Formats: sequence, C-alpha cells, structure tokens
Amino acid sequence: MKLSPISETRIVNICWFLGGFVIGLSAMYVSIWFGPGLFAYALLIHRWFVSIKCPQCEKPVGWNPIRICGVTLLEWWTPWVPKKCRKCGTDLSLKKA
Ligand SMILES: [Zn+2]
Repeated sequence: MKLSPISETRIVNICWFLGGFVIGLSAMYVSIWFGPGLFAYALLIHRWFVSIKCPQCEKPVGWNPIRICGVTLLEWWTPWVPKKCRKCGTDLSLKKA
C-alpha cells in the first residue's frame, strides 16, 4: 500500500491515540504490567514515525523546526507534517513514487 507521508503520519497518530488509550486503560484496570507495555508501544510508534521520510531528500518528515514569532526555537519531532518538505520543498501530500 502506497501512502503519502502526510496520510501515513495521520495513521500513525490514530494508532497512537487508540492503542495508547486501550493499553493505558488496561494498565489502570487490568494489570499494572500493561505500563511497560505502553512504554514499548510508544517506542514502536516512534520507530514507525521516524521511518516516514521525504521521498526526495530522505529527511524524516516529522523532524521540524518549531517557530514562534518567526524565531526558530529548536528542531524536534512534531506530530504534524508540513505540506511541503522543509528541506527540499517537495509536496508531501503526494503519494510515494
Ligand atoms: Zn525533502
């Protein structure tokens, strides 16, 4: 299945919210051992997210500068993806070739 980086990020976010919610509730009501499971799940989701890259320049699409009032504070993983690649300007809403 070929997806655009933006669609794939959307799916990662949905999986994270649904899965995190279910495992979080399980940790509270079923067994405390779901706690480490939630941590492992977070790592898994992060690995998936990090693997989503710009089809042109291979820059991870979730790695973006955080700007406030035009000043770049830092670069960090963001749960959103810009419409265009920050590095090469490729339209990230297009499907992978
Ligand atoms: Zn790029």
